[in-house]
Formats: sequence, structure tokens, C-alpha cells
Amino acid sequence: GQKVVLITGCSSGIGLRIAVLLARDDARRYHVIATMRDLKRKEKLVEAAGDAYGKTLSLLTLDVCSDESVKQCIDAVKDRHIDVLINNAGIGLVGPVESISMDDMKKVFETNFFGVIRMIKEVMPDMKKRRGGHIIVVSSVMGLQGVVFNDVYAASKFAMEGFCESLAVQLLKFNVTLSMIEPGPVHTEFEMKMIADVSKKEFPGTDPDTVNYFKNVYLPSSVDIFEALGQTPDDIAMCTKKVIEARSPRFRNLTNPLYTPIVAMKYADETGGLSVHAFYHMLFNMGSIMHLSMNLMKCLTCGCLRRRTISPS
Ligand code: NAD
Repeated sequence: GQKVVLITGCSSGIGLRIAVLLARDDARRYHVIATMRDLKRKEKLVEAAGDAYGKTLSLLTLDVCSDESVKQCIDAVKDRHIDVLINNAGIGLVGPVESISMDDMKKVFETNFFGVIRMIKEVMPDMKKRRGGHIIVVSSVMGLQGVVFNDVYAASKFAMEGFCESLAVQLLKFNVTLSMIEPGPVHTEFEMKMIADVSKKEFPGTDPDTVNYFKNVYLPSSVDIFEALGQTPDDIAMCTKKVIEARSPRFRNLTNPLYTPIVAMKYADETGGLSVHAFYHMLFNMGSIMHLSMNLMKCLTCGCLRRRTISPS
């Protein structure tokens, strides 16, 4: 039979592409329930889905930050039967910590952390009863390695990684699989809009040096990194499909081989010094970027790191 796949945050970006890719599967192996906060924003998805819409793709309203919305949505699914839950909805936040309000920080955790847990709490008991199911969480490389000026976002993804690492052990006993997808930078409209917004913003309570490092050192290098290393939402969709279809899916799935050295660096030095200093030099000492990238290239060509990623094709 068809697998029922429910995805959060499908009005744009990665969620939209996962929904379309699975709904348009040649063998029609999936019935996709694409969800979003506001169905008024369904047009892009509906257009991309083409004739799959109304057949292998249906839509439901869902706000991961609302208990009621989550319950209503899952109750609306036939027999509440979901084979694959894809937690994709998430929000970003960059900037100097001093300039960000506590409310804005809490909003990130409400969505990226508690939003996912709310979904898992609603769906997991049925999966455990059925002794089957697959829960996928779209985390980030920033769930494994902190990145300067992304402090709160990285913390929300780290929190998710810790939560899932703990839960996965218990779920194994119930034949329920838990997988993390860890993309590096992905080109979405969202990212360019965020960068444009930030360059117009004021930074209350932040000293001029920090504002300068953020606007004139971090932001330009972040744009460069996105351009040089960025994947497409389609790449992430293809990786996610591979994880769903794997005979024994891995727990962690980095999607971008160019980021495996960063994670390897973290595990190579348990004191954390190597990562902190490497990032410091990358940000503030351009000369050493050449040195670092040469070493990274060496790591990549030896192949041991490449095996740690899942590739889109
Ligand atoms: P995006 O902004 O295009 O997609 C996120 C979606 O989540 C949007 O459609 C948004 O409306 C939705 N959403 C936000 N709050 C919601 C809520 N309360 N309830 C339901 N939906 C909500 O950005 P994206 O890049 O496609 O992000 C998807 C996921 O990928 C996120 O979890 C993000 O953290 C992760 N990610 C993104 C990147 C990147 O560089 N873009 C990198 C690594 C991980």
C-alpha cells in the first residue's frame, strides 16, 4: 500500500520540494499530506505539484506552535495513520545576541524545538502501538556545530539533536525509526530576505565593534559561503527521499560533503579548541582560509569523510 507521509511547513523551501518530490513519485508509493499554517499560501505548492494535487497530494492546515492546531490536523488524517512524519517547519535567527529580544529567542525555540516535540507527542503513540513508523527531523549542520552570530538558532537545533538522540534508543524497541537530516546552507528566498533585512536593521544595546563584525565581516563571508557551498531545496528533498527509502536509515544524515570536515574537526578534538580557533581564523584572518581549505580538500579526497554524507543523487 501507499505510505502516508505528513510534512510540516510546506508553503515554501525544503518542505515544498519534499512534498512535490514524494507526491510525484513514479511508482506512486506515497500519499503526501502537505501542511502549512495558512492554506492561502498553497499556490506555489499546488502549481509545483501539477496533477499530483488531489491524487497523491492533499493539504491540511497546521501550526506547529499550537496544541489545538496539531491535534486537529492529526485527527483529520484517516485513522490518524501516519507512516512517515517529516518535521521541516523551522525559523532562522541571526545577529548579535545583545540585540535580540528574549521574546524573539523564545519564538525560535517554540518553533524549532517545541514545535517538533509537539508533533512527535501527537504522532508517536500511534506509531508505537503499530510497531512501525519513521520520524524525520530537518535539523542543520548547526545542530552539530555552532556558528558565530547564529547562537540561538544553533542552540535550538542542538536541543533537537539531544532530544532525538535520547528518544531514538527507546523508539528502536518499538520498531520506530528516527532520522535527522543535517543540511548545510540551502538557497531559499528566506535566506536572501533575511540578509537584506539585517543590513537595514538597527542593533540596540550592541557595541559598534560587534555591529561592525556582524555587518562587515560575518555577513559578506556568509553570502560567499552560501554562494560557494549552497545546495538547493531539491537536493535536500532528494536526500530526504533516500533516507525514507533506505533499508536501515542512518540516524544522522549530513547532506553536504563540504561540511563533513567541520563536523570531523569537532570530533577530532574533544576539548573544542580546534573548532573554536578554526572558526575564529576563518572569520577574522582571511589568510588562513586558504590554508584551511587546502586541508579540507585533502580530507575530502581521501574519501573517508565523503562516506559520512548522503548525496542527493
Ligand atoms: P523556509 O522559510 O522556506 O521554510 C520553512 C517553512 O516553515 C515555511 O514555509 C514557514 O512558513 C514554515 N513555518 C514557520 N513557522 C511555522 C509554524 N509555526 N507552523 C508551521 N509552519 C511553520 O526555509 P527552509 O530553508 O525551507 O527551512 C526548512 C527547514 O530547513 C527549517 O527547519 C530550517 O531550519 C532547515 N534548514 C534550512 C537551511 C537553509 O540554509 N535554508 C539549512 C539547514 C537547515
